[in-house]
Amino acid sequence: MEYERILYEKVEPEIVKITMNRPEKRNAQDPLMFSEMTDAFIEADLDEEVRVIIFAGAGKDFSAGHDMSGQGHPAKEGTVMRKALDTELTGMEMRLKREDYVFLNQGINIRNVSKPTIAMVQGNCLAGGWLNASMCDLIMASEDAKFGDPVVRMTPAGVEILFHPYDVGFRKAKEMLWTGDPITAQEAKELGLVSKVVPREKLEEETLALAKRIALSPPVAVSLVKRSINFAQDEMGQRNAWQYHMLIHQLSHASDETRRWGEERAKAMQQGGLKEMLKERDSKFAQ
Ligand code: ZN
Repeated sequence: MEYERILYEKVEPEIVKITMNRPEKRNAQDPLMFSEMTDAFIEADLDEEVRVIIFAGAGKDFSAGHDMSGQGHPAKEGTVMRKALDTELTGMEMRLKREDYVFLNQGINIRNVSKPTIAMVQGNCLAGGWLNASMCDLIMASEDAKFGDPVVRMTPAGVEILFHPYDVGFRKAKEMLWTGDPITAQEAKELGLVSKVVPREKLEEETLALAKRIALSPPVAVSLVKRSINFAQDEMGQRNAWQYHMLIHQLSHASDETRRWGEERAKAMQQGGLKEMLKERDSKFAQ
């Protein structure tokens, strides 16, 4: 398939690398990228030769998360992603449907790929970017990697926040979300979020080495193990909790705090740029 926002490469006959390729925007995920990521993971899953999928971000950062600028490229004409995003928001129920489809299901599509997936993370891995890394089976990180989610400090209870407790533990997730402070690669290793932390220049090589080791195991057994462990996680409540959180996210869209403060922040941004907006953020709830 042809892609614009991602690179799809067969780095070895049995290993595909899917790279978010928008480095000038720190791989912010716009509708076109969402749509292409969905297609790319399915393409790799359907290719019988492929045993392992590496998921990467081009440039300095893995991904800054969802593109909130509104300046991203729409999804391709004729795709269901385009239809979902073009549908007029007539109320909460339509927003829920759209966000379920665009954010939640898109992530779950990565999780449901039958083959092992490894996220290869460098630099910033934030909010929605972390959601996507989180949907991979394993994560490799370079020493400069940072996992964070500043969304609660900026706006509502973001769609992605319920993915974090399953990665870093429930208490750590609350601390991180309430303070907005990211965790370092080393902390991520200690928390069991990443498999290995390596120097930036070794990240590619080490990730490929891990992928090759996994590819030595019998593919059907590997896939069955993945299915079974994912099922066990879902039985422990993960999947239902994600679904519930999408409702909570809609509540936060409906809250006065979110709406009014969102408007004030947007005004600060318009008047004084990012600096003013951050000042507004940091002073708003100070005593
Ligand atoms: Zn939303």
